[in-house]
Amino acid sequence: MPAARIGPNSIIQTVAVLREVFTPDELRTLLTGETASYLSHLPHEMIPEVQFHELVDLLTAQLGVERAGEILYRSGELTADYVRANRIPAPIRTVLALLPAPISLRVFLPAISKHAWTFAGSGAFHFSIGRTPLVSIGKSVNRDTSKIAAVLCRYYCGAFTQLLRRVVSSRISLREVACQARSGSACVYQIVM
Ligand SMILES: [Zn+2]
Repeated sequence: MPAARIGPNSIIQTVAVLREVFTPDELRTLLTGETASYLSHLPHEMIPEVQFHELVDLLTAQLGVERAGEILYRSGELTADYVRANRIPAPIRTVLALLPAPISLRVFLPAISKHAWTFAGSGAFHFSIGRTPLVSIGKSVNRDTSKIAAVLCRYYCGAFTQLLRRVVSSRISLREVACQARSGSACVYQIVM
C-alpha cells in the first residue's frame, strides 16, 4: 500500500499558529528532530501523512492534549480558509452563500468530499444529508493514532466548523456524537444549523 498523503497545509498552518503563540527561541526548543526543519523550510507539495502525525505527536507530548488541541483547532480553521479560497471557485461560493443553508449544505458536502483528503489524510471521510446532517472522519488506515486521536479530532473539528460557517452559514455549529479518542471508529460531527 502506498504511503497515505495529506495536504501540506496540515503542517504549514500548524507552524503558522505556533509562530503566533511562541517566540522564535521557544520554537527552536519545541521543534526538535525532523520537525526543526519547518522553521526554515515548509512543504509545498502533498506530504506523507506520517509527517503531520509526527508533528502532532511531538506537540501532544510537549504541550499536553489540551494545549496541543487548541493549536490544532486553530490550524484546522486556517486550513479551511485555504481550502475555501483555493479549492472553491468564487462564483460557487457566492451561490452557496445565497442559498438557504440546508440546500447549500446538500450541494456543498458532496463537492467538498473530493477535497477532504487535504485535511483528513487516510481517514475515510463520510457525510450524510438527511434530517440530521453529519460529517465524519475515520481512523488513519496506516498507523495507530490512538495517542493523538483527541488532538487530531480538534484539527478536524476546527476545519469543518470553519469551512461550513464560511461557506454555508455562519450559524452552523458542530456537535460531536462519536470520537476516535473515546473508542469510536470515527469522529462523527452532527451539523447543527
Ligand atoms: Zn473526535
